[in-house]
Amino acid sequence: MIEFRSVSHAFDDVPVLEDVSLSIDAGEFVLLAGANGSGKTTLLRHSNGLLEPDSGEVLVDGTPVAEDLIAARSSVGMVFQHPRDQFVAATVGEDIAFGPENLGLDRAEIDRRVTAALETVNMAGREDERIDALSGGEQSRVAIAGALAMEPTHLVLDEPFTGLDAPARRSVLERLASLSADGTGVLLATHDLRDVCELADRVIAMHDGRVAVDGPPADALAELDGLEVRVPDTTRC
Ligand code: ADP
Repeated sequence: MIEFRSVSHAFDDVPVLEDVSLSIDAGEFVLLAGANGSGKTTLLRHSNGLLEPDSGEVLVDGTPVAEDLIAARSSVGMVFQHPRDQFVAATVGEDIAFGPENLGLDRAEIDRRVTAALETVNMAGREDERIDALSGGEQSRVAIAGALAMEPTHLVLDEPFTGLDAPARRSVLERLASLSADGTGVLLATHDLRDVCELADRVIAMHDGRVAVDGPPADALAELDGLEVRVPDTTRC
């Protein structure tokens, strides 16, 4: 479980998160919605200690992140907004292996994890391909596979659909839903709520650094008026 307890954070004295309390359970698929600038990325960066709260605390599986940063980072996998920023190697296989290598695992275990992660994102057998030759959607999948290869108990993703067409977006969403069904807690920040009702367990909406809405998709969608969150006409619960 990732738990935020009254977390506040300011940049240059400007409050960006104010008294945020929420939790993401194992196996839950939670969408984090909100207009640009509402604080989603800042919130996600607190979930594995990339930022430290000014007040309040974040706990991962009961342990304060500040007490054990290494445990938090191995439990919470992060996928950032622009997958290109996250790649460290030229080929798919080398890139996904990088994290597990840093855990000091042996070669057989690293290879097993790379193979399994690529299977999970529907890219089995593509280890030797160059990342810069892949489509945007494939790069997003590689970024997700890189996080999965760390075998985190939670996966936190920040707008991972930039540059993906609708079928690729849908396919990644379905993968995330199936991972959460298998027990991974998934927190996905997006301003685009297509498919939420069908796939997510819960929607949290941020507004001006605060949690404005937190509930099942059907209830949450009814409360989004005025929060500048895009809800396509086709979205029904
Ligand atoms: P979102 O992900 O919802 O678009 P962010 O968390 O990125 O929101 O940003 C929330 C606010 O915090 C914005 O006003 C943004 O300009 C500001 N902000 C984010 N990161 C920094 C930073 N490193 N330094 C100063 N201000 C920042």
